[in-house]
Amino acid sequence: MSQGLVTMSYIVASILFIFSLSGLSHQEKARSGNRYGMIGMGIAIAATVMSDTVSSYSIIIIALLVGSFMGTKAALHVKMTQMPELVAIMHSLVGMAAVLVGYANFIDPTSVLTGVEKNIHEVEIYIGIFIGAVTFSGSVIAFGKLSGRISGNPVLLPARHWLNLGLLITSIWLCIHFVESVQTGGGTWVLLLMTLIALAFGVHMVMAIGGADMPVVVSMLNSYSGWAAAATGFMLGNDLLIVVGALVGSSGAILSYIMCRAMNRSFISVIAGGFGTTSGGSARVVEGEVQKINIQEAAELLQDARNIMIIPGYGMAVAHAQHTVNEVCKLLLDKGKNVRFGIHPVAGRMPGHMNVLLAEAKVPYDIVYEMDEINEDFPDMDVTIVIGANDIVNPSALDDPNSPIAGMPVLECWKGAHTIVLKRSMASGYAGVDNPLFVHEHTQMLFGDANDSMQAVLKALRN
Ligand code: NDP
Repeated sequence: MSQGLVTMSYIVASILFIFSLSGLSHQEKARSGNRYGMIGMGIAIAATVMSDTVSSYSIIIIALLVGSFMGTKAALHVKMTQMPELVAIMHSLVGMAAVLVGYANFIDPTSVLTGVEKNIHEVEIYIGIFIGAVTFSGSVIAFGKLSGRISGNPVLLPARHWLNLGLLITSIWLCIHFVESVQTGGGTWVLLLMTLIALAFGVHMVMAIGGADMPVVVSMLNSYSGWAAAATGFMLGNDLLIVVGALVGSSGAILSYIMCRAMNRSFISVIAGGFGTTSGGSARVVEGEVQKINIQEAAELLQDARNIMIIPGYGMAVAHAQHTVNEVCKLLLDKGKNVRFGIHPVAGRMPGHMNVLLAEAKVPYDIVYEMDEINEDFPDMDVTIVIGANDIVNPSALDDPNSPIAGMPVLECWKGAHTIVLKRSMASGYAGVDNPLFVHEHTQMLFGDANDSMQAVLKALRN
């Protein structure tokens, strides 16, 4: 394929990726957004494979087969509840690719660059490997935390901010040393040392972040993976990778900002690591009597209600209850009730988790509201059903400064007349914080698997 045609294909692919991102920002257009992305990626791969930069087709074909097999297998087998971990581990692969491409470029015997051009290329390699290694190790730790293999509690080393600053300054100093060493044919040890520092930096940064603040880390690593891809693009001189990497990097940065705002955290403190920790005191102990409710009573409350709010959380994903929830919702709407869904920005385990589940169950988009849109309406609510949610409806975020989730806006469902909480036990949520909502005078607990409970409520409502 001629270079002109390759460039043309890259431009078309870039435009499709922009359409894809724009589509993915609205639930109604998410499917077409996905399609644009797939077509764009198909064009990008085809153009790259057919360009004259490829010297060995057998290696490309083997890599394509192995990659396609692994991707298809992961996509077919992954459960919806494991999606956040899958996304984290995918980010780590982007980081690893940047590191490997960096080293391949460094030892490339065919490189003919000299003078300033060579220096610029060496800096590209250095930065590419640095970002890649931070993304790789940070994503592996995020994977461990999201899958429960590593504790969600923050690991706070003494003087951690000084440690981070020291690592950063050392890396910058090593970069200068690296460019000088390369002139005399060296640089390998400097590069290896920086890679180790970057790996340690990634581990330290994510380990220092507390459970409740993981959403910001997920979106931040998403952004890092974009910058790692862009750095790879610079190293390979591939315009498409630069454009796509910049798109992913900047959209991930915007998402991180949105998540920070949703959690009332400052972006800088996230990057510095170790936010999600409190002023040092211990969180308030929750005391009070739990009021239980049975299926029949829950159905009767819903039957008598006019305004109903449904708050889904991570437990709905675990229980696969979204389809039953939609059935209950349809029945209540048919009975003339005003039913709405309230979505917290960090509900579940990845940005947009609840929206994806509700869309999958075909809940109408126009009754699904963001937290900011409906938080004022709770005093008018006759019944709120909390389905497997915990941290996102925890009042201590607002009134206990020592709580690990202090300052995070939450869905204020306790202001309504009745709140029914569906969960299996009194266990805490991801942040590991007790929840006073469960002993609130307006709250009644419906213990059991969320899907079983909703099925039973559906049956009772039908009868
Ligand atoms: P939580 O993790 O706070 O609570 C989920 C609740 O669901 C648990 O208390 C659990 O209680 C219950 N549950 C689990 N399985 C079932 C089941 N089968 N049936 C019924 N209930 C069940 O979830 P939230 O959505 O409220 O909050 C999200 C949390 O995750 C926040 O702390 C957020 O910061 C964090 N997070 C979010 C990410 C994101 O991007 N959205 C990423 C990473 C972390 P029980 O065991 O008693 O049933």
